[in-house]
Amino acid sequence: MFWKKKSQEEIQATVFQALSRNVDYNSETILGIPASYLDDKVFNQDASFIKDAPFISSLIQNPNHIGCHTLGKSESFFEGTHEIERDLIQICAVDILKGEPDEQDGYVASGGTEANIQAIWIYRNYFMNEYEAEQSEICILCSEDSHYSMDKAANLLTLSVFKTTVDSELRVLNAEDVRMTIQKARDAGKKYFIVISNMMTTMFGSIDLVQTYTDVLVAMNCQFKLHIDGAYGGFYYPFTDDSSLLTFENPHITSFTLDAHKMAQAPYGTGIFLIRKGYMHHVNTKEASYVEGEDYTLIGSRSGANAIAVWMILVKNGPFGWQEKVFILQKRTAWMCKQFKEMSIAFYRHPFSNIITIKAPFVPIDIATKFGLVPDNHKAPNWYKIVIMDHVTIEKLSLLIEALKAN
Ligand SMILES: *Cc1c(COP(=O)(O)O)cnc(C)c1O
Repeated sequence: MFWKKKSQEEIQATVFQALSRNVDYNSETILGIPASYLDDKVFNQDASFIKDAPFISSLIQNPNHIGCHTLGKSESFFEGTHEIERDLIQICAVDILKGEPDEQDGYVASGGTEANIQAIWIYRNYFMNEYEAEQSEICILCSEDSHYSMDKAANLLTLSVFKTTVDSELRVLNAEDVRMTIQKARDAGKKYFIVISNMMTTMFGSIDLVQTYTDVLVAMNCQFKLHIDGAYGGFYYPFTDDSSLLTFENPHITSFTLDAHKMAQAPYGTGIFLIRKGYMHHVNTKEASYVEGEDYTLIGSRSGANAIAVWMILVKNGPFGWQEKVFILQKRTAWMCKQFKEMSIAFYRHPFSNIITIKAPFVPIDIATKFGLVPDNHKAPNWYKIVIMDHVTIEKLSLLIEALKAN
């Protein structure tokens, strides 16, 4: 709906037009903000190549995207490029995650960690504001394969975490264990559940069957809010599984994290946070009175160039280009799995993911080091993973196969 492929000329025109609507420190008299262009003694501002380089120009002009631009007012100095961020949020929420237009809020966070903490922060306050919950009655529910940002969030927000186990081979949730974990939390006085379900885990690329959580939570009559951690899978899984239940069409789900700096090859600092309208106000910091429109985000000041970079990547590829990109990675992953099967190497791979996780005894440590395979645990590896990215070609993969065969 909002995601249309654009030519390089159209992209350039849109970005330069947006930058021109931002504040111009040279020609205007702007005396009150602690902001300017990048230091021109270091970053040359008139180099001729900049004229055709919208991203570099955005870095140099350095717009501040502080706050959340899908609701209320925002800093008027940078309204041109805020518009591009709003467009990006619509593309992610509507075209990728099947939300209704204008029904979601969101912003470009520093990463998946911040976006996950933002979600948990909102739900903690939501339960306290709407249900008069005591902080000690609220907990986080996730799985043992969830990212460690859940533990950071728990520590920062003083919540306890309850982790349900997954099958050691299939990496899937187990309804009985989810039930027992919830019971354990209840026995510890927890009444409100902030549930984080995975759309591709960091180590295995596994995808939680979200109904395992929701069926048990509903059957046990739990008050819960459900966030999907798609830091890894947000720009991948929606393109491999046509019948994904991890979308805004699923009424149980309220929010998502998707990292553009992982599968979308965007600059670091591009974790995207999306949430249904009606929740952001639970973390509005009204004391941020010098910020026009106040601040609903965890981060504060952040670079507008990040939002522009993700927007450029998405519209340059277009939805069909993206589908093809993912299709190629899926084919390569399947090819590699076939080689491993023929060699009787034990591994895990979710059919909709581009991660292959090999059991450590099948990989000598020197080969793992040489090929940059990442262990689940640096001290005592049980698994090593391969991530099939753009640069991980069959040519390079076959070198690993040869090394393993020669061993
Ligand atoms: C990488 C990752 C995160 C954290 O993202 P950062 O961008 O590194 O902060 C969170 N969840 C999952 C599943 C991840 O893979």
